[in-house]
Amino acid sequence: MNLNPDILELLKNPKRALVVSLPVRMDNGRIKVFTGMRVQHWDAFGPFKGGIRYHPQVCLDEVKALAIWMSIKTAVVGIPYGGAKGGIICNPKEMSVNELEHLTRRFTHEIMDIIGPYRDVPAPDVYTSEREMAWIYDTYSEAQGYAVPEVVTGKPISVGGSLGRREATSRGTVITIREAAKRLKLNLKGASVAVQGFGNVGYYAAVLIAEYGSKIVAVSDSQGGIYNPDGVNPKKVMEHKNKTGSVVGYPGTKQISNAELLELDVDILIPAALENQLLAENAPRIKAKIVGEGANGPTTPEADEILYKNGVFVVPDILANAGGVTVSYMEWVQNLTRESWSEDEVNTKLEQRMVQAFNEVYQVYQQEKVHMRTAAYIVAFRRIAEAVEARGIFP
Ligand code: GLU
Repeated sequence: MNLNPDILELLKNPKRALVVSLPVRMDNGRIKVFTGMRVQHWDAFGPFKGGIRYHPQVCLDEVKALAIWMSIKTAVVGIPYGGAKGGIICNPKEMSVNELEHLTRRFTHEIMDIIGPYRDVPAPDVYTSEREMAWIYDTYSEAQGYAVPEVVTGKPISVGGSLGRREATSRGTVITIREAAKRLKLNLKGASVAVQGFGNVGYYAAVLIAEYGSKIVAVSDSQGGIYNPDGVNPKKVMEHKNKTGSVVGYPGTKQISNAELLELDVDILIPAALENQLLAENAPRIKAKIVGEGANGPTTPEADEILYKNGVFVVPDILANAGGVTVSYMEWVQNLTRESWSEDEVNTKLEQRMVQAFNEVYQVYQQEKVHMRTAAYIVAFRRIAEAVEARGIFP
């Protein structure tokens, strides 16, 4: 794309990375100190934007990578944000609600100076949800002395969350898969689907693609996966997971591993868990015709090349999962204007933006004869470079 090397130099590193210590008095009376971080990559178009992830293995390099992906993602869908990401090294599965609340509030306090409705707007990510966003909203607002719902997105509806936000990432993923399927002349009705990860993204992706008549033959979570060639009802599987803590053991299914799930003979594969799942090692065995990346970074660059050569159509994360941040943007706009839109209005706007972004990326994919990820990068970096060049370097 002949990107100006100065711009590349500029965008290689985040503008700011803040690492904070978070002392929390645990339920047993002892103090435990957690590490939290917020990375702000670039903000050419507007406030930094991106989720906060709670995970035992999260680290600064990962959060940096996730922050630049947010810059690229917001540029691909053309919403006026930069990119950021946050993380706290913790295992939320081993913590009480009380401990998680104290951790979240202390983190909000520690990053207070660098977030704000016009500075940096956090959102949910892996193992965080509406509940944590409500605590962030409350902590920030108490410090300001007035309600500031626009400081964070992905909130519960009762405190200014947007209708449709919960399903938004998955809705966007399914829209882009549907557009890809049209190009490949693959009928979604009857198509077989495997979904890796059964959190907010994986679960709703399964539910929404099933509405097109696709068959969910396999799903998984961190405990393992389940497989039934005749298909499962994702809502029923969720009931089982809520009762037992995992999808594993769902009646009428065969237990498989997460690695096996990826290599199943299916039409559509939706990785919706963590990074680095499709690698040079397993990429040659991927049989899906379409990979729709609900997760961030599930495919390595080496795997990308292999999949492209093998004719697997990959809808890359920065396009496929951009529906989440797109509806976050709508939530922020609703909060700033003190309005609330109907679910139909949100979904219609999401549909338009996703289809437009898909078409723009697909056009570059055809013109430049590169895979969809490179095409999406080209679309994004053209926009970012233009904005950076127009603004110039201060001072
Ligand atoms: N964590 C989500 C993502 O990776 C959503 C970010 C947001 O809504 O700001 O895109």
